[in-house]
Amino acid sequence: MARTIAIQENIFCEPCKECGSRPVIEQVKGTFSVRCPQHKSHYKTKPGLINIDDWNLKNKTHPPLGNTANPQKAS
Ligand SMILES: [Zn+2]
Repeated sequence: MARTIAIQENIFCEPCKECGSRPVIEQVKGTFSVRCPQHKSHYKTKPGLINIDDWNLKNKTHPPLGNTANPQKAS
């Protein structure tokens, strides 16, 4: 009884790191998950509010390991 909702094109989403699909929002009763539309076993955010940030974090292909994208560290 889940229904899926396309995420608007102007919202940035990482593609699924396993199959490259653009995620969709799955609605089950009053809760939402961001998930891969192709495979149930691929990453899915916890049901609740729509959390694209969490999806993006988990589907980044290159995690920022010691990579300072953070400009607060000036020498
Ligand atoms: Zn996938």
